[in-house]
Amino acid sequence: MGYSAPRGTVDILPGKSEKWIRLEQLLRTISANYNVKEMRTPIFEHAELFNRAVGDTTDVVSKEMYTFPDKKGRMISLRPEGTAGIARAYVENKMYGLPEKLQKVYYMGPMFRYERPQNGRQRQFHQYGVEMMGVESAYVDVECMVMAVTVVEALGLKNVTLHINSLGDDVSRDAYREALKDHFRPSLDELCGDCKARFDKNPLRILDCKVDANHPAMKNAPKTIDYLSENAKKHFEKVCSLLDDLEVSYVIDTNLVRGLDYYSHTVFEIISDDPKLGAGATVGGGGRYNGLIEELGGPATPGVGFAFGMERLLLALDDEQEDEEDGLDCYIMPLGEEAKDLAMQVITMLRANGFTCDMDHASRGLKGQFKSADRFHAHFSIILGDEEVKNEVVNIKCNHDKTQETVPLENIVAYLENHLAGGHEHE
Ligand code: AMP
Repeated sequence: MGYSAPRGTVDILPGKSEKWIRLEQLLRTISANYNVKEMRTPIFEHAELFNRAVGDTTDVVSKEMYTFPDKKGRMISLRPEGTAGIARAYVENKMYGLPEKLQKVYYMGPMFRYERPQNGRQRQFHQYGVEMMGVESAYVDVECMVMAVTVVEALGLKNVTLHINSLGDDVSRDAYREALKDHFRPSLDELCGDCKARFDKNPLRILDCKVDANHPAMKNAPKTIDYLSENAKKHFEKVCSLLDDLEVSYVIDTNLVRGLDYYSHTVFEIISDDPKLGAGATVGGGGRYNGLIEELGGPATPGVGFAFGMERLLLALDDEQEDEEDGLDCYIMPLGEEAKDLAMQVITMLRANGFTCDMDHASRGLKGQFKSADRFHAHFSIILGDEEVKNEVVNIKCNHDKTQETVPLENIVAYLENHLAGGHEHE
């Protein structure tokens, strides 16, 4: 009987995982550059958290969430996104009381959404996200946006555009909600069942309905930007002028509302036309969520953040050829059972001294073992035959200049240190 990975999941095998590590390291470096610290929260949370934070009228929660009762009947969800868990942990760990008012954190890891798997859409996928919580300031919005742009630029993505919009504060959103209802009321009968429910509960979500996307009423729907309160307008103007000052190019995209309920004020997306991703691909997005932390039981605390799909970032990252840097220091090649015993001693001693090495466990002949040494880009092959065992020596071949020397067991470390020094570092 055969098993296959569940639909919408992928295995990341050796050969591919190196690129993931490279991406993760790059993201960690940029995070450090912005003084953003890592935060790790559970992969599953109480379902109620996401209903509350992300919103139970969003597609993510109402259609795509993996929710199940645990053995005690508690409803548990696999996290579909990272912000809700971070905000929950921020409140639970009273991070709002920390001396540093602005808490800047990042996360990366798997997220789960029950979507139809297709190009660029998986059921288990990965996100890298950043949250900056505790200070209400257009400067923080802009720091977030600039950081998001830095990430995509560092990956070498071409034709990237920062799209921004403002949803405004509570006052603006109330006014906007009423305007949306007035707008959609005459065509309510023609909209899908979901939209009819959204109309009363959360009319904003009608705008990201996939079923009604082409309905004529969608095209001339009111724009959030026309309903901003004075305060919200000021905040948005400051964001725009800061981006101008920093010469970060952006477009104001009045249709941008984002698919999660917690956003207020600034929202943004990074869209790329790089052929590597396909035209108009959203690499990631984010925005401000001033109501979220209070909604989860914390003190009123502003926040702003963004998340990137890591599978998409990975597509952007160039394939780097494996070079000697990634190769082994030594590949140990025992010929015969007795030689294997000694090889085990030698390899353990070399590893303890910090060399990266491997050995043949498959009892192959010289030719097969040399092929492995080659595949692993081993700097040295250490050959151990009966003769070497008897004389307590090894035969060290440099795979670069093809020189070969017989070295007594007790001198191997010194020999390798001498010959690896300089060009090829090890720790
Ligand atoms: P969101 O949390 O919906 O704003 O998504 C942020 C980013 O995560 C998107 O722009 C995508 O790059 C990525 N993403 C979201 N859902 C999926 C999925 N099912 N598979 C792969 N990537 C995804």
